[in-house]
Amino acid sequence: MSVPPASSTVLTFEDARRVVEQQAALLRPGATESVDLLAATGRVLAEPVAADRDLPPFPRTTRDGYALRSADLSHLPASLEVIGEIKAGEKLERMPHHIASGQAASIMTGAPVPPGADAVVMVEYTLQHGKQVEISRSVAQGENIVPRGAEARQGAVLLARGVRLNEADIALAASVGKSRLQVYRRLRVAVLTTGDEIVDVDATPGPTQIRNSNSYSLRAQIQRAGGEAVLLPVAPDEFEGLRRLIEAGLKADLLLMTGGVSMGRYDLVEQVLSELHAEFFFTGARIQPGRPVVFGKCGAGSPAGEPRATYFFGLPGNPVSTMVTFELFARPVLAALEGESPRSLMFLHAPLKKEIRIKTGLKRFLPALLSGEFERSEVELVAWQGSGDIAATARANCYIVIPEDRDRIAAGEWVAVMMR
Ligand code: AMP
Ligand code: MG
Repeated sequence: MSVPPASSTVLTFEDARRVVEQQAALLRPGATESVDLLAATGRVLAEPVAADRDLPPFPRTTRDGYALRSADLSHLPASLEVIGEIKAGEKLERMPHHIASGQAASIMTGAPVPPGADAVVMVEYTLQHGKQVEISRSVAQGENIVPRGAEARQGAVLLARGVRLNEADIALAASVGKSRLQVYRRLRVAVLTTGDEIVDVDATPGPTQIRNSNSYSLRAQIQRAGGEAVLLPVAPDEFEGLRRLIEAGLKADLLLMTGGVSMGRYDLVEQVLSELHAEFFFTGARIQPGRPVVFGKCGAGSPAGEPRATYFFGLPGNPVSTMVTFELFARPVLAALEGESPRSLMFLHAPLKKEIRIKTGLKRFLPALLSGEFERSEVELVAWQGSGDIAATARANCYIVIPEDRDRIAAGEWVAVMMR
């Protein structure tokens, strides 16, 4: 079969990432489902969540102390009459109705501040004898009180559609009485690994065979990204067999392939996709690991004949390349298909522990170890044998991002770090 390979488009990392973000912005999520609040953790919210009442619903004291009028403390020490005690959850009818000048109410953290009072003085600055309290410190108006509605007004949207829900979002939903949430359904991501040398984990590999690890790292990454992986059989380095499996993979919401995208004679993925009339956005990025990464979409494989393009990535087969290119390029597309609002890629920074010397020309994402304690962290490369070295990558906990124009980075210099 002689199909011309796709004309090659090799982009800088930044351009490739921009192309991915532009495509992701065009994508729309699928159906939604209602799930229990807790099961919504890590899922993408498909409905706005609004405040069902003012937050806080009453002026809330943030301290144990005395609710009073700040003007009463202009001369210190001041002595005020204690007219009641207010604990958190106090019933309204049991609370003092009004704090007048010269009066105070003992109050506990989280309790409503009664009308008339405009500040709370901390208990540490007070001494109560019977019905009198002596106060040794003044307070500003409003001190230690969160006014009613200061965090949110009733009806205000607190969580927008498209948020991937973390523990703070779940807490917020709980605080406004949402025991169930509408989320986007999980995405079905087909995983197709290629290569005649690849055998399954349970098989005993021959002396020149390699166990399939990419399907597993990808599955783990897909799972963490909220998707559902659909594993296809390992594809042979042979046109027809590969074509059948790629067509099957294109029936999913997104297709991730690994291997078969380099320059070798048996790297047939792009040829098969060309024959299936795929559109290629890029066929390489100037990065290491992951240079031969391919991104495109293909109209084939639509169910019931309805026209539907499936996006695909051809991720390079080297295990570290597969992991890194998933993070850099596939994740935003997956996230967009799951309804998540776009987020830009951000790196942390840490000082370099040991000098790096490297060739220029590629932007590198090299396995590294971030270590240290509390505010003092530092990062260093782990020794590795290149992008096939899974063991080194497992010893690492992040990647150092090295600009393409740097051949030396001195110890102590701050470098960008991509966490994983
Ligand atoms: P390729 O991109 O097909 O040229 O493969 C590059 C390297 O990655 C080769 O050494 C392959 O044996 C290896 N490789 C490809 N696919 C896998 C896989 N699924 N699991 C582990 N290693 C793989
Ligand atoms: Mg191969």
